[in-house]
Amino acid sequence: RLAGRRRTFDGTGRTADGTRVQLLANIGDPAGSAPAAAAGAEGVGLFRSEFCFLGRETPPSVDEQVEQYRTVLAQFPGRKVVVRTLDSGADKPLEFLSSDDEENPALGVRGLRTATRWPDLLEEQLEAIATAAAQEAADVWVMAPMVSTVGEAEWFVSRCAAHGLDRAGVMIEVPSAALLSGPILGRAAFASIGTNDLTQYAMAADRLLGSLAELNDPWQPAVLRLIAETCRGGELQGRPVGVCGEAASQPVLALVLVGLGVSSLSMTARAIPDVAALLERVTVDECRELARYALAAESPGDARAVVRGRLPVLDELG
Ligand code: PEP
Ligand code: MG
Repeated sequence: RLAGRRRTFDGTGRTADGTRVQLLANIGDPAGSAPAAAAGAEGVGLFRSEFCFLGRETPPSVDEQVEQYRTVLAQFPGRKVVVRTLDSGADKPLEFLSSDDEENPALGVRGLRTATRWPDLLEEQLEAIATAAAQEAADVWVMAPMVSTVGEAEWFVSRCAAHGLDRAGVMIEVPSAALLSGPILGRAAFASIGTNDLTQYAMAADRLLGSLAELNDPWQPAVLRLIAETCRGGELQGRPVGVCGEAASQPVLALVLVGLGVSSLSMTARAIPDVAALLERVTVDECRELARYALAAESPGDARAVVRGRLPVLDELG
């Protein structure tokens, strides 16, 4: 976080030259949506729907889901809310969506993969999202977690379309999907990069292991290159690419992400004012230059140092 005084956010993220960058909130369950709305987030870039049902042994009914989703959507009238379909597995297992015979759950049947094993649950969730969206005035987008192939993206988008949900996108958090973002975004309406898992899988380092924190760093040049490649696919297809992993909440790294081509940043709500304050001091061309330097670095430490060294405005803000 930036040092110094407490900041507020006026509700519109932009760079110094006026380029819009949507600043959105990550939320878990209905209880998290009120603080996000109060913090002035432009909307929700990641609604982790599985958080509504952690600890349950049986799947929620469609009606129960509609109630949960409506409570969240009602907080954001007229604003964008990106609902992620259930992302069960590894660090956040749902009992009714887990296989107990896996030795490596981080590499197992998780995220969208659970929908091939329990297809009715995806259908019911999409039905519930579509019903809630029809009853509330939020601008509802839907995205799938842990997409790894073009075929999975195509299948998910077609299932969404069957429920009348046309703003259907994918999370890019598996390196294979980052490398195939062109064809994936030929099918999906948008992509949101999950830097927490993208870093874990690019670096082969468990995101929950503190002893691997140096590897689990989104400033790793290999991770930045995967993000750049994802943005290139978005540009080729004319589709927006956002970031919804923790990387978006680091103000200096957020500039690099914008320079790489990301057009929205979704983060924990309390980080939004600091990210907004730095963003509005730097032009998009300057962000691009920072991104070039970061991409050319050979280590996360070098990337951080070269970018910070080119930002004298940090001293002023601090
Ligand atoms: C991510 O992986 O970066 C992400 C945003 O999703 P989660 O942290 O819920 O896995
Ligand atoms: Mg993830």
